[in-house]
Amino acid sequence: MTANAKQKDTDQTMNFSADVARLLDIVANALYSNRDVFLRELISNAADACDRLRYDAIETPDLTKDNPNFRIHIYKDTDARTLTIVDNGIGMNRDELIDHLGTIAKSGTGALMEQMKAAKQDGADPLKLIGQFGVGFYACFMVASSVSVTSRKAGDTAAHTWVSDGRTGFTVEEASADDLAKLDGVRGTAITLNLKDDEGADFLVDEKLKQTIAQYSDHIDVKIFLNTPAQTESGEGQPANSASAIWKRPKSDVTEEQYTEFYRHITHGFDTPVLTSHWQAEGTIEYSALLFIPMMRPWDLYDPSRKGSVKLYVRRVFISDNMPDLMYPWMRFVRGVIDSEDLPLNISRENLQHNPILHKIRSSVTTRVLKDLAKLAKKDEPAFLTFWGQFGAALKEGLYDAHAHREDIFKICRFFSSHDGGESLMSLEDYIGRMKDGQKDIYYISGENVENLKNSPQIEGFKARGYEVLFFTDTVDEFWLQQVGDYQGKTFKSVTHGDIDLGDDDSSSAEDDVKDSAKKDSDDQALEALLSKFKDILQDEVADVRPSKRLTDSPVCLIAAADAPDMHMERVLKVQQNYAGMHKPILEVNPKHALVKKLISAGDEQVADAAMLLMDQALIIQGEPLKNPSEFARRMSEIMTKGL
Ligand code: ADP
Ligand code: MG
Repeated sequence: MTANAKQKDTDQTMNFSADVARLLDIVANALYSNRDVFLRELISNAADACDRLRYDAIETPDLTKDNPNFRIHIYKDTDARTLTIVDNGIGMNRDELIDHLGTIAKSGTGALMEQMKAAKQDGADPLKLIGQFGVGFYACFMVASSVSVTSRKAGDTAAHTWVSDGRTGFTVEEASADDLAKLDGVRGTAITLNLKDDEGADFLVDEKLKQTIAQYSDHIDVKIFLNTPAQTESGEGQPANSASAIWKRPKSDVTEEQYTEFYRHITHGFDTPVLTSHWQAEGTIEYSALLFIPMMRPWDLYDPSRKGSVKLYVRRVFISDNMPDLMYPWMRFVRGVIDSEDLPLNISRENLQHNPILHKIRSSVTTRVLKDLAKLAKKDEPAFLTFWGQFGAALKEGLYDAHAHREDIFKICRFFSSHDGGESLMSLEDYIGRMKDGQKDIYYISGENVENLKNSPQIEGFKARGYEVLFFTDTVDEFWLQQVGDYQGKTFKSVTHGDIDLGDDDSSSAEDDVKDSAKKDSDDQALEALLSKFKDILQDEVADVRPSKRLTDSPVCLIAAADAPDMHMERVLKVQQNYAGMHKPILEVNPKHALVKKLISAGDEQVADAAMLLMDQALIIQGEPLKNPSEFARRMSEIMTKGL
């Protein structure tokens, strides 16, 4: 058929855009194990088309005056080996057929290809990725050797037929009388699949078809009729699905499987959500919400152009799947449906965005989801930690973005800590429960990863004195820390920043007190002299050199001055915001360290080498680059040679 059309009128023959061609390649190669999703995709497109016309008909009722009942018909022809799906939704005109079925409007196919490659190398399941991108319409080429789409846009007179074998291109022509006869009344779309001999044969079996439709469409809000062509005049019989909006049903009427199917329908995925929240809000604002949190982070979670993914309905009319302000940006991983009873239907989507009811819904939904997450943390910790690993960093953006929800977010935040050497995630509640008598602050250290942080010299003194230190390793931590001073009256305090009063409760200082005070004075003077030599040698590198209380085992560490930003924060700002200022750190020296004690009586040249080596060491431990690595190596070898 395609070949004929090509010969007949080359003007009407068009090539797929490059990314469609690539996508079709993937469809042909990767999806074989899950072929029946094609039906899910076609049914979902048909239902979307009905949703869109339902919305447009609010303003232009004439569009549906021929038949206000939206419906989908699915039927097969065993002799011709075809399967046809008909909807009386909004339809497509010629340009739309070309644009929507010939190109991929959604960006990210390139990213999909990259990730597919990576997934294959890691032995991961590329199917999961496809789910995130949604191959949509093109999934039908898994089972069909050619596909014909006849469509008339609601309100138009012309109708067109698009035909393709899913390889290089497609044709578009005016619809023939036979094609037109497939449409349900004057509008909508009829898609006929010429089923492949092997891969498509299943779908000529009644049972298989019935079961697949039941699985994929029970929750669809449009009636689906099986085995009757759309033009059947006599009664339509029973629809194959219950065609009631699942979110409107009471929770007790919905099974776990139905929730999961609905989730897969809206996400185009194959996974199971970690959290399902379903409720009907009554009172000052009324709405139903059925929301899910996926198991896996979407590939574009941190892409600023990522759109919202909760669908807004108003009294069961679909409004938008990208309503800004319906959800907070830091909740952008939540999927599902919110259906408002209070929002007006007869105003534009743009004006809806500024409706105060929308903000009330957002606030109420946020509170509920955070509460459900807190419950999940108690009820099923492994599931909660899966969530946290995937979305914790995004959620923490809410700490500075939404003051009103801060306390609730903090309740579900989890951090690694020195308590168990960074082995497991802790809540702030855990931390506060373990605070020492008289401890006023929540101590933390931030850096690239737990592995580095747990061995940081700066936390030695805290650990030795029994103070727990939290490890902050997400970039976003540096941003909320700038805005949020405290939690439950306890100040967040960086152990690498400014002066810290650890009290003088360690036993060694008590020993010092009873020492001969003359000896102590001379020790102090000798240390002073050493530190001032250090200061001279390192004057370009550091703002100050001073004795440390933070250290027990290491000879030195770096600290940010009280009037400068914390060191890791400064690094993050430099990368993220092109922040130029680089403050010099303070070098803290451990007076009790054997090396430092020896240096007090060492010659100037040795002190100079040691100062520079110690400085470089401090940088290395923090994972920072050395200004002059070859100098470092030279000095190191020299000292080793002398030592041997
Ligand atoms: P998606 O549904 O995610 O947009 P698809 O590949 O499933 O991607 O469909 C591409 C586009 O083709 C849809 O966005 C829609 O504009 C159009 N389309 C597909 N099927 C239909 C249909 N039955 N009626 C109207 N438009 C349709
Ligand atoms: Mg689709």
